[in-house]
Amino acid sequence: MLKKLALASCLLVAAGCTTVPITGRRQLSLVSDAEMNAMAVTEYQKVLASSKVITSGTQAAMVKRVGQRIQQAVETYFRQQNQSSQLEGYAWEFNLIDDKQENAWCMPGGKVAVYTGILPITQDETGLAVVMGHEIAHAVARHSSERASQQQAAQTVGGVVSTAVGQTPTLSQNVFLQAVGLGSQLGLLKYGRSQESEADHLGLIFMAMAGYNPDKAVDFWQRMDAREGTASPPEFLSTHPSNGTRVAAIQRELPEARKYYKP
Ligand SMILES: [Zn+2]
Repeated sequence: MLKKLALASCLLVAAGCTTVPITGRRQLSLVSDAEMNAMAVTEYQKVLASSKVITSGTQAAMVKRVGQRIQQAVETYFRQQNQSSQLEGYAWEFNLIDDKQENAWCMPGGKVAVYTGILPITQDETGLAVVMGHEIAHAVARHSSERASQQQAAQTVGGVVSTAVGQTPTLSQNVFLQAVGLGSQLGLLKYGRSQESEADHLGLIFMAMAGYNPDKAVDFWQRMDAREGTASPPEFLSTHPSNGTRVAAIQRELPEARKYYKP
């Protein structure tokens, strides 16, 4: 139903759509990046204020280093595609939070959190690059905006109509919180399956461009697979395709990613 609605409004109103980098998929875009980014700043601050943020030590430094390298890769990619305007308003931050959740996420506008609970699975810097590449890919592919747009369109019958006459519906905080997954359980982002596959694909390219061996992504997902079912599911396990499917898709995408990899 949502998909149908999204597609219908995409066909009706070209202005209500954007194109995802790398995959070229068209997506519904009814809410502005400025609105999403502004709300993300507020919500990110709330999360940091209520968490134990680790500001020193090798692990925190690694999170910042990997984040900055992937940020540079993303900026380079968008510049090469003449799409730098899509990153306007980004104010990147990379924070490590002391919490046993096996989780990480990136809010719109480049606000990244990594939880210490995931570090035993990432194991090393390259494993962390798999996770951060995947999360940053969700953000720059505007997956939260897309979900907010779908909810907005579903909630307001007039949504499509008002876009047609050039008015962007106002983004409600509720829609935003649901779209980034903060409405129900803190930090647990909810994406669709196709968005998960897309984040895997983009993340692979970004990590390769950042100088991390994309082949290691397979090892990471296999480690994820091995621990599945042992605790509450992190973002990576919530709605993803079965791990066999996921690893097979990543293996198909590796030849493309290797072209971007310079050790
Ligand atoms: Zn994901």
